[in-house]
Amino acid sequence: MEKVRVVVIGSGPAGLTAALYTSRAQLSTVVITGMQIGGQIATTHDVDNFPGFPEGVNGPELAERMRAQAERFGTRFDYDLVTDVDFTTGTPFRVKTQNNEYLADSVIVTIGASPRKLGIPGEDENIGRGVSYCATCDGYFFRGKDIVVVGGGDSALQEAIFLTKFASSVTVIHRRDTLRASVALQTRAFANPRIHFIYDSVVDEIKGEDGQVQAVALRNVKTGEVSDKPTDGVFVFIGYDPNSVIFNSQLITDPQGYVIVDDRFRTNIDGVFAGGEIHDNIFRQAITAAGQGASAALVAVNWLGEREDQLQPLDEPVEAAVES
Ligand code: NAP
Repeated sequence: MEKVRVVVIGSGPAGLTAALYTSRAQLSTVVITGMQIGGQIATTHDVDNFPGFPEGVNGPELAERMRAQAERFGTRFDYDLVTDVDFTTGTPFRVKTQNNEYLADSVIVTIGASPRKLGIPGEDENIGRGVSYCATCDGYFFRGKDIVVVGGGDSALQEAIFLTKFASSVTVIHRRDTLRASVALQTRAFANPRIHFIYDSVVDEIKGEDGQVQAVALRNVKTGEVSDKPTDGVFVFIGYDPNSVIFNSQLITDPQGYVIVDDRFRTNIDGVFAGGEIHDNIFRQAITAAGQGASAALVAVNWLGEREDQLQPLDEPVEAAVES
């Protein structure tokens, strides 16, 4: 078990920025990265709206720059998944990963959100066989193919536009007759000759054969008409769910699972802070997540500073630190 001042759970823009701030404040900081450093930004190809990059920047590059910047000030990275946390006995908090265990004076939760699934027959069975939630990761495999995108928000249209770099045709299937996406993205998508739209329709089933997606079963929600649409791939962009299950009700969430924080990014547990998409279901931008990570870190730094004389030396054996 290792003792640190700050454990940051999650390595998206919120987590990497939080770590930059706590490390720069000379607090020993470990980021538990999760599956992929950068979180959702690492699966985004073009980021056009992160200030400081007038030509845009690709998501993995932005994530790597943030990682390197935090590392420059001493952040350490544990490329692992959190398996368990114990916030019940107060600080220091136990945070377990698959291979390590930390005793942290404070925790900043920036574990973000994961792509929502459709939850229909044929979806799980065909992941990696034509069903995908990441255009950046899988678009290349659909060169010259006909594919569908499910969803009507910014993600659906942004990824549909990107996928036309590879696919011959991209059909956006949306459950209503108006899109949720911004006007700017709608304008770009409507102007793209490779993008088509099917409105008022849901996908009831993804049909595969010989280990490859062949078609989607569509149902028009207004007329009830059902039909099969042949397709080589199904990209699902229907929103995200916060990754709060790991906290096992120790952190108070809203009914959707978003962790509730006050105006200083404090959770219900004294010493545990949260920022980014684990609590924010409104703005959900890389830049707002980064800002929230910075804010949560500033509050954590202050919180630790107020308790400086009570904090155990980091080089003291862990058992003594726990008992005292
Ligand atoms: P979103 O805005 O929540 O949109 C989800 C879309 O999926 C909606 O059109 C919704 O339909 C549809 N949907 C939800 N559940 C469905 C289901 N079970 N079956 C079929 N369709 C379903 O999610 P998002 O597009 O991922 O965007 C998330 C946030 O990130 C937003 O705040 C967005 O502005 C932001 N974002 C911004 C950019 C950018 O600035 N360039 C890019 C990507 C994302 P309804 O419309 O009927 O609800």
